[in-house]
Amino acid sequence: MPIIVKKFGGTSVGDPQKILHVARRLMEERKPGEQTVVVVSAMGHTTDELLKLANAVSLEGDKRELDQLLATGEQVTIALLALALQSLGQPAISLTGPQAGVRTDGVYGRARVTSVDADRLHRELDAGKIVVVAGFQGLAGDEITTLGRGGSDTTAVVLAAALGAPVCEIYTDVAGVYTCDPRIVPAARKLKEISYDEMLELASLGAGVLHPRSVECAKDHGVVIHVRSTFRSDEGTYVKGVDTLETQNPVNGVSLDLNQAKVALLEVPDRPGTAATLFKAIGKAGISVDMIIQSVRGDVTNDIAFTVASDDLEKTRKVAEQVAQDLGAKEVVYDPDIAKVSIVGVGMVGRPAIASSMFDALSQRGINIQMISTSEIKISCVVDKGRAKEATQCIHEYFGLEAVAEPQLV
Ligand code: ADP
Ligand code: ASP
Ligand code: MG
Repeated sequence: MPIIVKKFGGTSVGDPQKILHVARRLMEERKPGEQTVVVVSAMGHTTDELLKLANAVSLEGDKRELDQLLATGEQVTIALLALALQSLGQPAISLTGPQAGVRTDGVYGRARVTSVDADRLHRELDAGKIVVVAGFQGLAGDEITTLGRGGSDTTAVVLAAALGAPVCEIYTDVAGVYTCDPRIVPAARKLKEISYDEMLELASLGAGVLHPRSVECAKDHGVVIHVRSTFRSDEGTYVKGVDTLETQNPVNGVSLDLNQAKVALLEVPDRPGTAATLFKAIGKAGISVDMIIQSVRGDVTNDIAFTVASDDLEKTRKVAEQVAQDLGAKEVVYDPDIAKVSIVGVGMVGRPAIASSMFDALSQRGINIQMISTSEIKISCVVDKGRAKEATQCIHEYFGLEAVAEPQLV
């Protein structure tokens, strides 16, 4: 019997009326003989509010207790949606992540799903029920874990893979994946489809519309993700292994990551082993480094600058100051007011003009580029946070992404 997995995000289930709307939509769309699993997020901004509560009682929250707390958000929604479905005459049951058989590793706050024991899911589906599963959570041993912010997308794709569902529908508050966040660039264009690789880059570089690990999992298991609106019935964007004209555009999307901070060690003695010492210490503290620049000063020292997630800045500060002292660096400076703007497209391979076009777009507005990094299908620039939105908008415009037009190259 065909199984369909659908996921509704926080804004889609933000109040009782919206939950009833979702329940009605699930019933209307259900075809005879089809089995439905629906994954939901916490209502509205519940997860943020739970985090605020935790911060009010403890600044450095214990990670286990934080997961115990955050996992409660989704549990409210599953029960309410199951109640709404039942009230409309549709047999339904809610299951927490652990009850649905979602097993994870033991890394609190960003656990990875290791397996799904789908027996209970199959039993409930075979009994004719719509099964409502709490996203974002799983079980490691007998401990509740969460998958990281935005992780309900990953729960949905993981369940689709485990149940052999060919498509996972992600319902959200926009009509699909756009060439840029439509809240930053209102003229952004909705994409009919996008390749897994491009979507993975966009999501990893700050496009919050999908959790990056959901895309990774979809790619690994050949699950097509259909991102679409909860409030409209038209088709959205298919994320799949495509090789069509659209993915051959040099640039398919622009994303902005405001959660970035820069750290620089100035006048570090220039000898073998300094970078290794610094980044070993940072890695040991569990901090991920993104971009790195080592600049030549022309004397016996150099400067090493790197970026980390803003949330890791305090932790990085402690480590960097200790290492700077050990290495004999002159000082450590910090800049929390930076952002990373990136362009993504599989078609940029072998087209060097794309990078110079991006730099040209920024220079025309007098926006200074502080750091650059590139890979086969993306180019990222670090710019001042105060000008980040403008940077994103002007790059989007420069490449003509709002209209179906040939990109402008220098
Ligand atoms: P949900 O609660 O449904 O999971 P999210 O807030 O996590 O919703 O994701 C949807 C949001 O992602 C949109 O409201 C939009 O602002 C943002 N977004 C960022 N980049 C993009 C993009 N390229 N295309 C569409 N939406 C994007
Ligand atoms: N509720 C969680 C969050 O806000 C997970 C999710 O919505 O995907 O991050
Ligand atoms: Mg989300």
